[in-house]
Amino acid sequence: MKSKISLIVTTLLFISTHAAQAAPIYTFPVAGCEVTYSRYHHDYPAADIFGKKGCAFVSPIAGVVDEVNTVDRWRGKTNIGADRGGLSVSVIGDDGLRYYGSHLSKIESKIVPGYRVTTGEKLGEIGSTGSARGTKAHLHFGISYPTEKGIWWIRRGVGLESKGKTPPFKYLQAWQAGKDLKPRVVVPAVLPPEPKK
Ligand SMILES: [Zn+2]
Repeated sequence: MKSKISLIVTTLLFISTHAAQAAPIYTFPVAGCEVTYSRYHHDYPAADIFGKKGCAFVSPIAGVVDEVNTVDRWRGKTNIGADRGGLSVSVIGDDGLRYYGSHLSKIESKIVPGYRVTTGEKLGEIGSTGSARGTKAHLHFGISYPTEKGIWWIRRGVGLESKGKTPPFKYLQAWQAGKDLKPRVVVPAVLPPEPKK
């Protein structure tokens, strides 16, 4: 019995060591630029990653492009929720989660719904479109569970971990440090209704 257990433990150790040495599947969503970001985000859990306009927004994981918005329709007077992101891209990662980046200044021409991306592939460039007009260029980055198209209040980012309140900050830090860490996303039984803000 003892030797059986030690065999299992050895096998598990081998598997976990092996997994740790495999190429990372996640990467930080901004490449080739100095950035700053914090744990805090206004109103709901997400992350604003500040960097120079034109910094590359890259896919944090391999997956399939979901929604792409190439036209900035946002107006301050109406402040329509679906328009706040300006130019934006979302990707359904191979981990089953959705990754969203918005306020972009540019989207790569090949980035269209259904296009398959690899980890670190360039999706667009950082800017200040949508409701970020007039502010410092940044990438609004949100992690969520997939929904039907147009559900902007989920797509923009939801709280993570068991309580569904944690922002993406710790995952961004892990990926920036080269650690492979899968976000824990709680899917509610009922889709939350469209909020006022
Ligand atoms: Zn934001």
